[in-house]
Amino acid sequence: MEVHAELSTKSKMFCRCPVAFGGEPNTRICEVCLGLPGALPVPNRAAVEMVLRTALALRCEISLESAFQRKNYFYPDLPKGYQISQYQAPFGHSGYLDIPRPDGSTKRIRIRRVHLEEDTGKLMHLPGGGGSGIDYNRAGVPLMEVVTDFPPDIESGDEAKEYLVQLRQILLYLGVCDGKMEEGSLRCEPNVSVRPAGSEAFGTKTELKNLNSFRSVQLGAKYEIERQSSLLDGGGTVRQETRGWNEAREESYVMRVKESENDYRYFTDPDLAPFRFTDADIEALRATIPELPLERSLRYQRDFGLSAYDAGVLTSDAEWAEFFEEAVGIGGDPKAICNQLTQDFSAMLKAEGLSPRRSKVSPAHVADLVSLIAEGRISGKIGKEVFAQSFQSGALPTDIVGERGLSQISDESELRGVVRNVLEENGPTVAKFKGGNLGVKGFFVGQAMKATQGRANPEMVQRIVTEELESI
Ligand code: ZN
Ligand code: MN
Repeated sequence: MEVHAELSTKSKMFCRCPVAFGGEPNTRICEVCLGLPGALPVPNRAAVEMVLRTALALRCEISLESAFQRKNYFYPDLPKGYQISQYQAPFGHSGYLDIPRPDGSTKRIRIRRVHLEEDTGKLMHLPGGGGSGIDYNRAGVPLMEVVTDFPPDIESGDEAKEYLVQLRQILLYLGVCDGKMEEGSLRCEPNVSVRPAGSEAFGTKTELKNLNSFRSVQLGAKYEIERQSSLLDGGGTVRQETRGWNEAREESYVMRVKESENDYRYFTDPDLAPFRFTDADIEALRATIPELPLERSLRYQRDFGLSAYDAGVLTSDAEWAEFFEEAVGIGGDPKAICNQLTQDFSAMLKAEGLSPRRSKVSPAHVADLVSLIAEGRISGKIGKEVFAQSFQSGALPTDIVGERGLSQISDESELRGVVRNVLEENGPTVAKFKGGNLGVKGFFVGQAMKATQGRANPEMVQRIVTEELESI
C-alpha cells in the first residue's frame, strides 16, 4: 500500500508560496516551484519534522543521514522536469502499524519506508472543449509517502481500509495532514496480487488509483482480488498495469500497462545539502508523539470498561479523547460521560458546525450534568433539557437546575399526594385496572410525571402508583 499525504505546512516544501486547497489556478507559484533557471530551493523545516514525527509514530528506524534525490521524468504537471524525493535513505524505515481485527485482537502491518517529497501540479480539462489546462498551485507542496513492506501483510479489502483508517487517524493526531481524501490531501494506491492457496510465489500485481474514500479503497481492493482470481481460474494471466477506479460503476479499468520499470536517473540533488540528525534531535521529536488512537482505544476498553465501539468513537479524534479524559478526571461514571458526549453533545455540535472546544460546554459541564443525574437530583429527561440550555448559554447544569427549580422531586409524601390526585381524576381508568386491565398502570405514571413537569423521581412514582392502586 502506498499512501501520499500532503503535509499541513503553511508554505511549500522548497519556497515560501502558501499551501491551500483550490482557488484561482496559478496564483500560488514562484520561480522556485516553477523551476525557473537560477532559482534555488530551501527545505521547509516544519515539513521535515512532520515526516520524522510520523516515522517515529509508525515505530520506524530513523536514517540519521539522508538527502534529497531528483527523480527525473517529463510530464506537464512537473514544471522542473524532476520531482525532488528521497530514494536512497528515507527519513524513516522498518516500522509498523497495528490495526484492530474484528475479534478484538490486533494485526501488525509492517512499514517499509516513510519519506518526504514534493507534490506535482494538476492537469485539468477546460470547459467548452477548451483543451487542457495546468494549475501549478499544488506543485511543490510537501508530500509524505508511506509504503508498507514486502512481502505484504494486508490480505483483504477490509484490512486495506482498516490500515488507512488507522494511518489517517495517526496523521490527524499528529496534526501533520488534514486527511481530506475527497480533496486529495490523502491519496492511497493499493498494489494487489493473488496466488493459489499454499503457493510461495506472489502473483503479478496491479496498482489501483483514484480511490478517494475509505469505501472505494475497500471495494477497489476487493474488486481487484476477485477480478484477478477469476482471470486466473479461467486460465488467463494478470497483466502488470495501473488501473483506475470508477466510483459510480464500482469497477476498475486499465489506465496504463507497465512494460518495464522506468529509469528515473535518480541522483542526489546538488542544490540541497544532505541532512544529518543527532540522536538528541530525534529524541526531542519522539517526546512530542502523543499516545496513538488504537493504544488509547484499548486503554479506554480496559480501564473504563467502554465497548470497542464507544472507545473507537472517542479516540477517533484527539480533541474528543482529551475532552473525555478531562471530564472523567473531574469525576463521574466514564460510561455515562461517554454517552453524554457521543449522543446529545455530538449532535448539537454537528448542528452548529462546532468542535467540542469551540462550544460553550467544557468537560466540567459534562461531569456536572452526569453527577446530577447519578445522584438522582434530576431525571435523565430533565438532564437533556438542562444540557441543551448549557450548550446555548454556557451556564453550569447545577446553576440552571437551581435557578429554574428543576431538581427532581424525591419527597415521598409530595409524590404520594400527586399520585392520589391522578387516581381521583381518572376514576374510569382506575375501574379498568380493577377490571383486570393492568396495562393502564403506565398511564397513571405518565400522568403523575406530567403533573410534575417531569421532575418526579420516576422509580418512586412507579412504586407509589402500584401501592396506591393495590390499596384501593
Ligand atoms: Zn513557490
Ligand atoms: Mn511518491
